[in-house]
Amino acid sequence: MIRCRICPGTHPRPMCYVRTIAGLLPCALMLLRGLSLACVLCTGAALADEPVPETGPIPTIEAARREGDLAKADQLANTLLDVSRAGGAREDEGRALLELAANARDRNDYPAALGYLEPAFSIAAATGEPRLQARAHTLLGQVYRFQARYQAALDEAYRAMEIYLELRDQGAIGDTYSNIGTTLERVGQYEPALNAHLQALEIHSALDDSEAAASDIYNLGHLYVVIGDYPSALGYFQDVLQLDLASGDVGNIAYTNNKLGVVFTAMGDYKQAREHLDEALRLFQSIPAPRDVDWSRSLLAELALAQGNLDTAAGIIDGVIQRSRAGQFNSLLIDGLETAGEIALRRGEPDLAQAYIDEGIERARDVGQRHDQSHLEKLRAEAYRQQGAWQSAYAALQRHVAMETNILGENRVAAMGSAQSQAEFLRRGQQIELLQNRQQLQEAQLEKARLNRRGWVLAACATFALLGLLLLRYLQWRLNRRLRTEVAARTEELSRKNRELEEAYQRMELISLTDNLTGLYNRHFLESLIDGELEHCLRQHAGWLSGKTARPEQADLVAFLIDIDHFKRVNDRHGHSAGDDVLIQFRERLEQVFRHSDFLVRWGGEEFVAIARFTDHAGARHLAQRLMSAIRDTPFRVNGDGLETVTCSVGYVCYPLVRGTLQQPDWQTIIRLGDLCLYAAKYSGRDTWIGLESFNGPARDIPVSVSGHTLAQWTRAGRMQLASSLPPETEIRWETEDREALADVG
Ligand code: GH3
Ligand code: MG
Ligand code: MG
Repeated sequence: MIRCRICPGTHPRPMCYVRTIAGLLPCALMLLRGLSLACVLCTGAALADEPVPETGPIPTIEAARREGDLAKADQLANTLLDVSRAGGAREDEGRALLELAANARDRNDYPAALGYLEPAFSIAAATGEPRLQARAHTLLGQVYRFQARYQAALDEAYRAMEIYLELRDQGAIGDTYSNIGTTLERVGQYEPALNAHLQALEIHSALDDSEAAASDIYNLGHLYVVIGDYPSALGYFQDVLQLDLASGDVGNIAYTNNKLGVVFTAMGDYKQAREHLDEALRLFQSIPAPRDVDWSRSLLAELALAQGNLDTAAGIIDGVIQRSRAGQFNSLLIDGLETAGEIALRRGEPDLAQAYIDEGIERARDVGQRHDQSHLEKLRAEAYRQQGAWQSAYAALQRHVAMETNILGENRVAAMGSAQSQAEFLRRGQQIELLQNRQQLQEAQLEKARLNRRGWVLAACATFALLGLLLLRYLQWRLNRRLRTEVAARTEELSRKNRELEEAYQRMELISLTDNLTGLYNRHFLESLIDGELEHCLRQHAGWLSGKTARPEQADLVAFLIDIDHFKRVNDRHGHSAGDDVLIQFRERLEQVFRHSDFLVRWGGEEFVAIARFTDHAGARHLAQRLMSAIRDTPFRVNGDGLETVTCSVGYVCYPLVRGTLQQPDWQTIIRLGDLCLYAAKYSGRDTWIGLESFNGPARDIPVSVSGHTLAQWTRAGRMQLASSLPPETEIRWETEDREALADVG
């Protein structure tokens, strides 16, 4: 240790160059820069006899860093770099590079940090200075940890540890344990992490380094925060706060208050959270430590967010983001962007959230903060979801999951193996009688208590899980049962509805196929099935028509067209409803004459069609006669007691009509012929039937629009076999010239 000639401080041995003339130059430059009257290498406090640590950071620069004044820390480190380079002091050059690397680390500028560390390693190798090398490993490990490269981080920490063990530097060993614990915690190895922090605590306590011990307790508290055991964390942080208050380190007091704010926020005790965060903010402002001031502010924003005060949260975080950008506090900026994104999402402003998230992801990627990148991808997925962009949301979520798997999977497995083997090595190397001293006992008790508690917690969890499972099964069973009943009821209801529908449909079909007044089939019904009937009939006659067999008996079909004579008069005399009654009674008369298997159709108005099936053409005339008699011989009831004699005219056509061929006239032609016969019956005096029993000649000779005139000709030519109720030798009148008679025919 050397007393400085320029300032009242002392310097580590390698600093002796300051005694040289060359060494005076930078100190003079410092004065010019107006930084301080103190030498760059000395702290104001490290006056006179106070020893300067042989390892670790240079106090002045460390102080500037802790104050958050990274510009000053850089300036000091660069000055040292210049001085050492000018003086050819390689070790000091190495130390300056390490300080610059530490500054870059705190600025979260990891590429820059790695850039400083590389030459630092070269210098350490060239000079063979183990402390330089050890600290370079430590810093590199920390940078790797911030980049979420945990395996590499642990490797570096163990390399540093090896050197410190050889040097028997207890303080550095304690610090390294602390580093290892923090990294193990990041990869989810909570038990080894707890052990590492406890070892650090033990060593620091043995060295009476209360500040470092407080830091270890702080780390233990943080570990409990990470595993979500906030009451335990609270206990630790409250202890740390007492230690900090006793030591009077304002920065540490502020840090611990900050952490207590986090814990109280997580525990939902917003009032206490607010008090601690406000205190932290005040203290950081008093130091002043601008970056940490904003760290407190960002925690206050998170508190406001937790409380649902979105406007307050947004206001705070906007300021944090602005200042972090200006001060290049990357980590803080990324945190701020995350919080701002969350606030925007809570406000239902996915576009704004997207902007924050995109910037956050870009910056996290630049500095290699994979944890933040992963968390931001999750937020991005939520933003896409709110925008309804499901595909993009899914892609973002996939990226998030992939990163998580990558970070927590691969690193975790690798880190575990490494941690276990290295821990063994360390135990042997240190030869510290851990199990015999008081702290170890306390640790064992702590561990036991923790295990006990964990055992209870596990048992309780298992019981709850079992009960939960049973409850779930029961609820599921009940749900299933209800569902089954409901499904059965629904099925029954459905089939009932179906039956009803079917019935309704059948009723509707019946209605549409029958006539409302008389209940007889309607024209639609007959037309829908008559072709099939004719075909069936023809099939039965096929043998006979082709000359192979005798004419089948009772296999003919006869179409009767029936029209009530002067029905208008009935209406006129007795009223329309009496007319209706007559129509209904007419049905009854038809049913008396025709068979059940025949089709009785109300063709329209007072016209009817009866299709006699399975009959004989020879029998048709009897049927026609019977029908006429059935109508005429018994008067119809009108208006209760009244009686009215009603007659009808009938035309019929037998089927098959043409002999010796399967080519028969179609239904329309049959109806047309029947109509003409009916008209002829009318023209010939009414109360008459006229039937067409057969036609000589091909069916194609009969057009569907065949006229009465043609029929008259064919009758004369003997092409038609006719039957009628007219007296013999009476000429059938197919047509009438008489306009009145024509008009009279319905
Ligand atoms: P024709 O002997 O020439 O057939 O004389 P008509 O009076 O029977 O024939 P026309 O075609 O001149 O009149 C038919 C009448 O039948 C006219 C109409 O008021 C009546 N009518 C048609 N449908 C119904 C019905 O459903 N109920 C009642 N009451 N009358 C009907
Ligand atoms: Mg009529
Ligand atoms: Mg008529």
